[in-house]
Amino acid sequence: MNLTTKKRLNDGREMPLFGLGVFRSKDGEETYNAVRYALDAGYRHIDTAAVYGNEASVGRAIHDSGIPREEIWITTKLWNDEIRAHNEEAALQASLKRLGTDYVDLYLIHWPAAANRFDNWEDINGQTWRAMTELYQQGRVRAIGVSNFFPDRLVDLCQFVEIRPMVNQVETHALYQQKAAHAIMEKYGVVHESWGPFAEGRKDFFTNPVLAAVGAKHGKSVAQVALRFLLQSDVVVIPKSVHKARMAENLQVFDFSLDAEDMAAIQALDQEESAFFSHYDPATVEFITGLEL
Ligand code: NDP
Repeated sequence: MNLTTKKRLNDGREMPLFGLGVFRSKDGEETYNAVRYALDAGYRHIDTAAVYGNEASVGRAIHDSGIPREEIWITTKLWNDEIRAHNEEAALQASLKRLGTDYVDLYLIHWPAAANRFDNWEDINGQTWRAMTELYQQGRVRAIGVSNFFPDRLVDLCQFVEIRPMVNQVETHALYQQKAAHAIMEKYGVVHESWGPFAEGRKDFFTNPVLAAVGAKHGKSVAQVALRFLLQSDVVVIPKSVHKARMAENLQVFDFSLDAEDMAAIQALDQEESAFFSHYDPATVEFITGLEL
């Protein structure tokens, strides 16, 4: 496993298993510089979203890097209000324009329709997926997937569609490992991608004594152990940082490996609960207007 290792999707395409996330990276210089640093350091996969408000800065940084477009994997996401308006095609077009590209490598439904808000949530999810499938068949997005789809929602979708989601991006880290969800994704041929690999630093993540002890054993930081654990658990990672030194640190996860004892110690840290909400299930909680950035 190294930085160029890819994960095979259910249509045969391959996705880099390591990338940079830019949620909460401010539009403008902060995001621009983060993406430039990352590309200089060797990252070739950037994860953004329309609702992050920074696609234009991502696009400008990619353009100015001089790296051929086809060497960089770009993921962006369709936000809830566009889904409500059944505006998938125009939303994609607007994202492509901001990113300065004519395709994205992966387009995700950012959030499932929530059962507590919509009586017809099944129809909404199905209709959105059909629109995503059309965009994929037209070649305007190279892969399609979902995000925050917990097992029941994912199974609903996989059971009844011609083209299954290729990726499901869900909160996943050492304290919330999503083992049951992972097994379902594996069963349906959906790649498991982690968001929040450091739990965004919550729950004293970076001072966790088990992660620190495993790190000390290998001469590695908590961040590096946390990422390596996910990679060895067959999960795609997109850690976010706007700091050059941290981005470089986060990349140094391919020169060591966790042994069975390390893996077991970290597996035992699973609290089976989101770092953000108690008993949180995205199917019943929904952000309608936008994320707090
Ligand atoms: P992460 O778990 O990646 O944590 C990011 C935080 O950790 C930032 O505060 C960052 O600070 C800090 N950090 C990064 N590296 C280090 C390090 N080596 N040592 C110490 N601190 C560090 O959280 P994210 O929520 O950003 O998740 C990653 C990506 O997943 C997002 O950026 C986004 O692309 C995606 N995502 C998707 C969601 C979805 O609904 N689909 C939801 C949330 C995220 P600093 O930047 O100051 O270095």
